[in-house]
Amino acid sequence: MRPTITPTPEAPLDQLDLEDEKQIRRAMELADEAAHHGEVPVGAVLIIGDLVIETANERERRPDPTAHAEILALREAARRLGSWRLSGATVYVTKEPCPMCAGALIAARVARVVFGAYDAKGGAAGSVIDLFNGAAVFHWVEITGGVCESEAAQQLQDFFRHRRQGASNPERYHRR
Ligand SMILES: [Zn+2]
Repeated sequence: MRPTITPTPEAPLDQLDLEDEKQIRRAMELADEAAHHGEVPVGAVLIIGDLVIETANERERRPDPTAHAEILALREAARRLGSWRLSGATVYVTKEPCPMCAGALIAARVARVVFGAYDAKGGAAGSVIDLFNGAAVFHWVEITGGVCESEAAQQLQDFFRHRRQGASNPERYHRR
């Protein structure tokens, strides 16, 4: 079982940082796969105890407006554990959660959310609004933002640039 790492003098911050970077990079791989299916590239890794759930945005494929990577990860974890309450879970996601996902992460009682790129247009962890510190919050979630930020932001920018250039064929999408 992967221990929950909290920065202390005995378990310094860089150990936590390395694990965060590793998981965000894995989430970026999942996002990249999704982009090849024409999805906006957002990937997520949810870890709770021994359970590791890997998901990506499936909004186009399902099609389902709620099929964001974080929502799919929460649903799968709850199904596998037989409990909606995901206390102790850490969710790694390539982009700052939107309001829907922020609400769901709070409702699931996850312990920690780590994200890559900030989302100036729709981020609900402080960029546009901060639902995690809002008046409606009944559960405190630890937030770490901007992990591998430039790479995570680049992945999204590359996708949208290709799409604007008319690369509607997903085969034409390439990461840098
Ligand atoms: Zn979302």
